[in-house]
Amino acid sequence: MSIKLPIYLDNNATTQIDPRVVDVMMPYLTEKYGNYSSKHKFGYEAHSAVELAREHIAKLINSNPDEIIFTSGATESINLAHIGFAVANQNKGKHIISSLVEHSASYESLLFLSKVGFEITFLKPDETGRIHPEDVISNIRKDTILVSLIFANNEIGTVNDIKTISNFCLNEKIIFHTDATQAIGKIKVDVRELNPTMMSFTSHKIYGPKGIGALFINKKSLKFNLSPLIFGGSQENSLRSGTLNVPAIVGFGKACNILSNELDEDISHYKSLNEFMLKYLISHLDEIKLNGSKTHRIFNNLNLTVKDVLVQDLMRKIPDLAFSTGSACSSENLKKNRILKALGLTDEEIDSTFRIGFGRFNTIDEIKYASEKLVQTILNIRSKKSEKINKITV
Ligand SMILES: *Cc1c(COP(=O)(O)O)cnc(C)c1O
Repeated sequence: MSIKLPIYLDNNATTQIDPRVVDVMMPYLTEKYGNYSSKHKFGYEAHSAVELAREHIAKLINSNPDEIIFTSGATESINLAHIGFAVANQNKGKHIISSLVEHSASYESLLFLSKVGFEITFLKPDETGRIHPEDVISNIRKDTILVSLIFANNEIGTVNDIKTISNFCLNEKIIFHTDATQAIGKIKVDVRELNPTMMSFTSHKIYGPKGIGALFINKKSLKFNLSPLIFGGSQENSLRSGTLNVPAIVGFGKACNILSNELDEDISHYKSLNEFMLKYLISHLDEIKLNGSKTHRIFNNLNLTVKDVLVQDLMRKIPDLAFSTGSACSSENLKKNRILKALGLTDEEIDSTFRIGFGRFNTIDEIKYASEKLVQTILNIRSKKSEKINKITV
């Protein structure tokens, strides 16, 4: 059994690019450098590559290609869905419903809107991190123009009942956006079944390149206006101007094409790695707790609280394992802990909480090695701590 160190266990932060994705991108980084909008052979070549990618992306979520707008990533898609929508619809009302467990891209863009005259209701989740559809329903007002909720949580993996909430909003004729960044590639996402009005996602969480994402805009649902945030050459239906990033789009398309064929395989891989590590840790350690939902979850994520262990120490003692103390997207402690705080974890528990994100390229041998290392190190930290306490009491 030979294992290459360090082991990457942070696949909710980003993923390794799939070699098959790199292969299809290479020509567009070298000889196929045309501008998507140019009316000559180089342009046509870029144009058809982008449109093929759009088809692959659309197929994965069961949408039409013309419902996909390319952006620089989920952060931009979410900002466009929130701010672009708010700007274009403020005459209809200024109330927006979201939650306390959103990714910062959602949370911060809504905080911005709250500073310029919009009123945001941030719903509190239950202790597993789920937002209850009844809470959404009971908070809807006459001036509610938008509901925006995370699909699968980046920190704890909890999956919301998007189908119920989305279809309720559709009935009430309220625009519904979901941040599906962590759901795509981990569970089946079918927009014709779920009916969101808008949906954001990104390439680099599904083994594609960074800096490219998409906003799905449902054309078979409610009609609504959206203002662009970036103005210029009218690309992407005038919703997102700027020269298209052809190599990244081609890679994003390939990543989605792979998922269309291999989603079930990926899911069962995540499940087996997840089950192995969770069982191993629980059977070898006392006072370890799984955060989030046991059943409504994505299986590439494990979020655990280990009593009496500072996760900073744990990470320092096992530099060969790359895992996370919290959301990689934020630097300040306070922000990082917003999601765990909303679940009701104490500050002390948050300091003892870590996140493992399994990926397509992790092997079971890696997970066995990582599980053993984690147990050894946690036991070691705990025994040192109790030695210290004994010394003091003696
Ligand atoms: C990573 C992530 C984002 C941000 O995506 P980028 O493409 O990095 O901007 C947004 N929401 C969730 C849930 C994420 O996990």
